[in-house]
Amino acid sequence: MSAIYNFCAGPAMLPQAVMKKAQQELLDWNGLGVSVMEISHRSKEFIALTARAEADLRELMQIPANYHVLFMHGGGRGQFSAVVNNFLGDNGRALYLVNGQWSSAAVAEAKKLAGEAQIDSLNIVEKHNGLNAVVLPDLHKIDADYRYVHYCPNETVDGIEIFDELDSPWPVVADMSSTIMSHEIDVSRYGLIYAGAQKNIGPSGLSLVIVRDDMLKLPSLPQSSVMDYRIAVEHDSMFNTPPTFAWYLAAEVFAWLKSVGGVAHIADVNRRKAELLYACIDNNAFYRNGVELANRSRMNVTFQLADPALDAEFLKQAEAAGLVALKGHRIVGGMRASLYNAMPLEGVQVLVNFMNEFAAKHNQA
Ligand SMILES: *Cc1c(COP(=O)(O)O)cnc(C)c1O
Repeated sequence: MSAIYNFCAGPAMLPQAVMKKAQQELLDWNGLGVSVMEISHRSKEFIALTARAEADLRELMQIPANYHVLFMHGGGRGQFSAVVNNFLGDNGRALYLVNGQWSSAAVAEAKKLAGEAQIDSLNIVEKHNGLNAVVLPDLHKIDADYRYVHYCPNETVDGIEIFDELDSPWPVVADMSSTIMSHEIDVSRYGLIYAGAQKNIGPSGLSLVIVRDDMLKLPSLPQSSVMDYRIAVEHDSMFNTPPTFAWYLAAEVFAWLKSVGGVAHIADVNRRKAELLYACIDNNAFYRNGVELANRSRMNVTFQLADPALDAEFLKQAEAAGLVALKGHRIVGGMRASLYNAMPLEGVQVLVNFMNEFAAKHNQA
């Protein structure tokens, strides 16, 4: 079988080295004669795995000591509700910045659960010469006492990324589901970071939470114990049975990322991959991207064909060339190539070669 490059937005491809290792040790993990799926989460072997996962993650992201690392259930959306239930117990207020599909879904969920609490939302995308551009408001000029400001640094569906860290008078809560560990960030600027695992961490079903200690003093609502940060901290993310296989794969992804040079290295590769693909789009009148330069996502590159009637043919030929899952999200249409950490530079080169050939063929016709 020739190489397949999988551009799926999520669940996304995982590093091939990790998948091979998982395959090798699937039936006999750590010399135990059974799979890692089949042992107690409280066994000393599994506890050692979780300790290694946390240590590696702390090193990769330079997580300060006053932050807890939690491995929880419920993916990205689970955290939409957890954030509200954990931090807005009484009649508190929170501000949500909206720059695409996921941040507006977070607002909808927050409003549903808020009760006496107040959820304010602010659209931060404007059209600049027909392109979507993020305009960050001066949060210091807003006269309000928010518990937190929530935002989504990378909008997976819309292909809009915010590279500047927020300058906020309130704790920042960030949905990093599709950008976590793709470039270096200063964790100390956040009150809480969360990410569904299935883009840059591992398989779906797991969500990673990095929370500053003082955030746990905010009033919480009565809620499911499984989603309660304080209970998760108290029980080392094992109040109930965690998604152990997903946790194991996440640990392997962290080890892989360290082995290839860490976040600084992968950030450089990610920048080169994105530049290569955006250059192809910009150099061909046949393709178009609708996002202002400064906000073009490095993880999810969205593009349209000049003639949408050719979409189906593009996807069919791409697939025949081993380039799969390029169809854009059903809400926005067009194409989307997700270039998460596991996507090698060669994959993007093969895609760009294909796109240049496809455009040349159809320009002549
Ligand atoms: C994928 C994604 C989610 C949703 O994750 P689920 O695990 O499906 O709940 C939320 N936010 C962002 C930014 C995402 O990319």
